[in-house]
Amino acid sequence: MAQPQMRKADECGVPDNKQYLHPLLAKNYGNWKYHDRPRPGVLHHVAHTGDEVWTVRAGTQRQMDVGTIRKLCDIADQYAEGHVRFTIRSNIEYMLSKESMVAPLIAKLEAEGFPVGGTGNSVSMIAHTQGWLHCDIPGTDASGVVKSLMDDLYEEFKREDMPNRVHLSTSCCEINCGGQADIAIIIQHTKPPKINHDLVANVCERPAVVARCPVAAIRPALVNGRPSLEVDEKKCICCGACYPPCPPMQINDPEHSKLAIWVGGKNSNARAKPTFMKMVASGLPNNPPRWTEVGDVVKKILFTYKEDARPWERLSDWIDRIGWPRFFEKTELPFTKYLIDDWRGSRANLNASTHIRF
Ligand code: SF4
Ligand code: SF4
Repeated sequence: MAQPQMRKADECGVPDNKQYLHPLLAKNYGNWKYHDRPRPGVLHHVAHTGDEVWTVRAGTQRQMDVGTIRKLCDIADQYAEGHVRFTIRSNIEYMLSKESMVAPLIAKLEAEGFPVGGTGNSVSMIAHTQGWLHCDIPGTDASGVVKSLMDDLYEEFKREDMPNRVHLSTSCCEINCGGQADIAIIIQHTKPPKINHDLVANVCERPAVVARCPVAAIRPALVNGRPSLEVDEKKCICCGACYPPCPPMQINDPEHSKLAIWVGGKNSNARAKPTFMKMVASGLPNNPPRWTEVGDVVKKILFTYKEDARPWERLSDWIDRIGWPRFFEKTELPFTKYLIDDWRGSRANLNASTHIRF
């Protein structure tokens, strides 16, 4: 019997995406005349050739089981034209060549529990970092925080009545794959790791642990005559990166691992230059399964912005206009000297502002 042929390794990068495009997208690639949004969650693109494409965007729970992905694909086969794509914020999009297919597809998606929206000035799906599934250093369940928040912001995903688009994110460590967002939720460890010296020699590959520290705070040491490690606590930034290769360096802690909220980050050049986000709340409890304290602060910031910002102001534009003192007054968040900028140059930075001087 003939042996099945193994697929040959292809070392030349990702496959060409054009083979997977909806035929109208492939035909009109780079040749679009304009687009508009007939309703929240639906994009309508018109090409110079006269071809039209409707795109329906739905929210997903992001980390999906195979059954859910199959369900979404079955919907694509039955109610769309068999083509889907995922946006960077994990929304799924269905491309259609006929307007008459839009309403039945939306009805089916909503009946199956996938809200249609996330376009224009809405709160789009919250981006979150990989978390427990793919990474070894998470200090919280980033996807769980997303789920609890999106349950509360469900209607804001389906409507387009924010002043501008709002991007939220959650990150399960402070040092790696979290990005800039209008409102970001980030874990913070507030104490250096505690080392169980009895276990280090048996469990940890010490050079790997030393190499892992981003600020070179870990040194090999002999403790009670046994090989172990020591941490220079003045250098340690409490990032949590040393725990995975060396579990005896315990840093996760119900009391000292907290969540912080950062605001005003954006990547785009639209209207104003890209901005870094700044911390406006810290020390919030890492409190699964609903993270209510974090949700309350995020909603307070979000709805104050919604109420107070002018049309088309991103969250960073709004703060720039009203100034940080008014931001803290309006959101009723307590201001401490550790907020806004917490790096060592913050003194000069803050004194450069017309709003805060000390
Ligand atoms: S944010 Fe940090 S802990 Fe979370 S997935 Fe990224 S690198 Fe891992
Ligand atoms: S917590 Fe981070 S900074 Fe501190 S010792 Fe571990 S790896 Fe280094």
